[in-house]
Amino acid sequence: MTTLKGKTALVTGASRGIGRATAVALARAGAHILAHYGRSAQEAESLVTEIRANGGLADALSADLATTQGAAMLAEQVRLIVGDRLDVAVLNAGISKAARIADYTLEDFDNLFATNVRGPFFLVQQLLPMLGEGSNITVISSLGARTVVGKPGVDSPSILAYASTKGAIETLVKNWAAILGPLGIRVNAVAPGVIDTDMSNFTKTEAGREAALGMQALKRLGKPEDVADVVAFLASDGARWITGASIPVDGGSKL
Ligand code: NAD
Repeated sequence: MTTLKGKTALVTGASRGIGRATAVALARAGAHILAHYGRSAQEAESLVTEIRANGGLADALSADLATTQGAAMLAEQVRLIVGDRLDVAVLNAGISKAARIADYTLEDFDNLFATNVRGPFFLVQQLLPMLGEGSNITVISSLGARTVVGKPGVDSPSILAYASTKGAIETLVKNWAAILGPLGIRVNAVAPGVIDTDMSNFTKTEAGREAALGMQALKRLGKPEDVADVVAFLASDGARWITGASIPVDGGSKL
């Protein structure tokens, strides 16, 4: 693994799940971690304590990224710590929702887009003055951006609104990569399949687990660390010639 020693890395939604594993992986590679959280102050502080106990550098930062001011508030806290140079940004914070088409509300739709698309859009805008030659951004997308997950049917719960937020974010990744490439800034997505976190609690039932394994070539549940290791690679100089890509990290789902 190429070292990230001396680099600064912001991870949004770092208190648990994929974000937490990513913060740990980047810290292990030597980066100073800015661990963002929404509400889980205690979990974020325990992550910071864990990283520091292992000889790393970490700070916890808080902002609700679904609010209109959230992205600007977070960027300002980042600036106070790093000054004018942020090397790595991992846009991981997100929410999901499964429901029948008939049951979705306007509020559900707006919450999904505010958190998963508007938040990252304005966070990149606000972080831009701190990004430069050699900086990189990795966005956590989803298998759902390119394929229909679950059993389609008007009476079945579906994640179609969530999936469309991930389609939007992958479109942004290509545009950001094209616009920021000439400044030496790389932008990529990773697209996890089913990963065993709080978000995918359906895997806690035998039927949910069977459904996940049924669409995968590799027959175990994905773990947050499976995604974190790929993000750490994309953040490193080993990935210096990769930009505008979306890397599936899904155990070979829906091949
Ligand atoms: P999770 O629910 O454990 O973590 C989500 C994180 O985002 C939490 O730390 C949460 O506090 C934070 N967050 C949510 N809304 C926020 C807000 N308004 N402001 C600040 N922080 C907020 O889930 P996870 O599985 O670790 O998800 C991480 C990312 O991976 C998400 O973008 C998700 O869409 C994506 N993903 C997950 C899976 C999966 O199967 N778990 C699959 C594909 C993609």
